[in-house]
Amino acid sequence: MADKWQNGAVRVFNFAAGPAMLPTEVLETAQAELTDWQGSGMSVMEVSHRGKAFVACAAAAEAKLRSLLAIPDNYRVLFLQGGATGQFSAIPMNLTSPGDKVAFLNTGNWSKKAIQGAQRQGLTVEVVADEAESKYTTVPAPGAYTVTDDVAYLHYTPNETIGGVEFDYVPQTSVPLVADFSSTILSRPVDVSQYGLIYAGAQKNMGPAGLVVVIVRDDLTGHARPTTPDVWDYATMAANDSMLNTPPTFAIYILGLVLEWIERTGGLAAMAERNQAKAAALYEAIDGSGFYKNPVAPNARSWMNVPFTLADPELDADFLAQSSAAGMTNLKGHRSVGGMRASIYNAMPRAGVDALISFMADFARRHG
Ligand SMILES: *Cc1c(COP(=O)(O)O)cnc(C)c1O
Repeated sequence: MADKWQNGAVRVFNFAAGPAMLPTEVLETAQAELTDWQGSGMSVMEVSHRGKAFVACAAAAEAKLRSLLAIPDNYRVLFLQGGATGQFSAIPMNLTSPGDKVAFLNTGNWSKKAIQGAQRQGLTVEVVADEAESKYTTVPAPGAYTVTDDVAYLHYTPNETIGGVEFDYVPQTSVPLVADFSSTILSRPVDVSQYGLIYAGAQKNMGPAGLVVVIVRDDLTGHARPTTPDVWDYATMAANDSMLNTPPTFAIYILGLVLEWIERTGGLAAMAERNQAKAAALYEAIDGSGFYKNPVAPNARSWMNVPFTLADPELDADFLAQSSAAGMTNLKGHRSVGGMRASIYNAMPRAGVDALISFMADFARRHG
């Protein structure tokens, strides 16, 4: 299978937004121990989640996450199911009572979904900043909005996966800050102490789908509405080490391997340097091309998701077919934005970004 693709690689460079590329080394480790995990004669998917081996595996994944993100001791790490989408409902259920007020920054599609989730739980949502005027290609300036003390929390989306819009600062508020980190967690160091709650679906930067990680400050647990499902009640799940019911064992195991890979490759500071360099190279190629365009304000450009359009949308189909034949897949932009989107999460190697840049230059030369 060697050299199956024009890029010379055995695996494609997969630019999908999620589920996304995983590090090849992680997949190889999982493959090597798939049929006989730790001498059990079983795969990790077949062992009891209450057995010593798996309990240790989950505890090690949590410990690695805590050490990589320097999570303070007064935060719980929860491994839940239902995705980030489930948290759009679970967060209001745990942190508010019906009729409470909450504040949101609206920077695009995922912000809007989170707002709808809060509204469905009977909350009064104050959208204190809405980037509609720029067609969601900007983030609000730090001084452009005020959050009053009577809201239960301020929610924002640090990285809008569809629009490719990322905050270049952490909003400062006196109320708990709640953040949907799905598409940017582990891309760089984060000061967790500035947040009340961080949540992230695993399938972008952490592992396979089926797992959502919630990092929540102690004082925000223990107040769930009585109607909250047990599996989403933060205090209940924390008291049961996220094993009230059967957890997504395989996803937690792969998360552990991904975290080991991050640690081995220099931790989050080194990851940030590589990610920033990958993104900078791609934006520079787009801006300098006279053929491709990225609409996002320079200070709000995502390191993880890079949307771009071609000079002539009639060429989109050719671009997709040829890039795919060259081993660069899933570049089609989200249907709401059109054009292309290159998702370049942690697992996308620099070589993948460089291959895309040279393909783009060549395509532009042939069609410009
Ligand atoms: C992918 C994504 C979601 C949805 O995640 P699910 O796990 O599919 O529910 C929510 N928010 C952001 C920012 C995302 O990128």
